[in-house]
Amino acid sequence: MVKLDRKIKEAVGAIDNISKFEKLSKLKASYIEYDKFADSNLRQGYFCYNCIYWINVEGGKCILVKNEGYDVMGKESKIIAPHGCCAGYEPNYDKLEDTRKKEQNEKLTTDDVT
Ligand code: SF4
Repeated sequence: MVKLDRKIKEAVGAIDNISKFEKLSKLKASYIEYDKFADSNLRQGYFCYNCIYWINVEGGKCILVKNEGYDVMGKESKIIAPHGCCAGYEPNYDKLEDTRKKEQNEKLTTDDVT
């Protein structure tokens, strides 16, 4: 029950945050969709699916980056794709199967790997 309470609080917090943020354009966030990764295992790379800001209530949305507009490659898909990524995210290392993990349960931050 405590877990459910926490999940509800997180969801409410996320919705609250969405209303406060001025989202970045895809260009400003250096957002790119990688077509070659469209059929990849999205748990093994730095893709939106692993990003802590990824929300999937309606699909194809992000708290930080606008879903419409051109990406840095001039592509306009009107979504934030699971196989895309941008320069302004913190990957979710709990989901990520990253070979750069220090130890199995040790959480890394972007600063650790860049
Ligand atoms: S990688 Fe960027 S665009 Fe994708 S969900 Fe994360 S913050 Fe949003």
